[in-house]
Amino acid sequence: MTRRRWIADSWDEATASLTGEQASHLIRVLRAQAGMEFDIVAGDRVWHGVIAGISGDAVRFNLIAEVEADPALPVMLLLSVFKFDRMEWAIEKATELGVERIVPIIARRSEKHLAQSAQNRVERWRRIAREAAQQSRRSDVPVIEDALALKTAARREGEAVRLLLAEQERTRTLRGAVKEALAAAGDELPVIRVAVGPEGGWVAEEEALFDSEGWKPVSLGPRILRAETAAITAMAVVAALLE
Ligand code: SAM
Repeated sequence: MTRRRWIADSWDEATASLTGEQASHLIRVLRAQAGMEFDIVAGDRVWHGVIAGISGDAVRFNLIAEVEADPALPVMLLLSVFKFDRMEWAIEKATELGVERIVPIIARRSEKHLAQSAQNRVERWRRIAREAAQQSRRSDVPVIEDALALKTAARREGEAVRLLLAEQERTRTLRGAVKEALAAAGDELPVIRVAVGPEGGWVAEEEALFDSEGWKPVSLGPRILRAETAAITAMAVVAALLE
């Protein structure tokens, strides 16, 4: 049986609670009653839960048994800030495809007014990721970081294969690079970072900075894709190879 899944706002070893919008939807639209059964995501674990009580705008569940959970893919997406409606779409779809973490980055060609208001959008992006995680029955919610300067994000430390989506790259494909990473990682899954440029693309100094930090340019094919198409396609290619 497929049970509807909720992401707990708080939990302990035996119970979990929903508050806010999720609880009010459950109470008013789905007419929550004691005894109704759902899957409950509590941190990185998923439980078969039964409603134990409803009080005001909160729903409390007893956690009955743990359900097997699929972990996120070890993929971090560096997403240059571009038009917000299209970015939202990219965040939603990347979440459905299993991304672990998204870092909005301010690239040189991110439009100025979007770059300036990006940080104010982060909470909304987190909400979109949360809803998409719930809708796609993920057992966790991807982390949406605060907006970062490209330089800081490109220089971040950590063991990872770093891949820069670059439409002018002609020899190395994303698919080939991920296959190589898989072969090199042996039994483990490689940790992958993918950077997506803004609508105007990367400037030469950004490409040089990525290069000096060990990022490899990769292609998604001969056609120039819109930034959100590139982000989603990249996630789909990586997911197809890692899963
Ligand atoms: N500068 C380009 C132009 O105006 O001709 C367009 C940039 S594209 C709309 C936005 C971003 O998507 C690029 O910076 C790159 O990261 C990614 N991208 C688009 N098409 C791609 C492709 N075929 N291969 C790899 N990356 C691609």
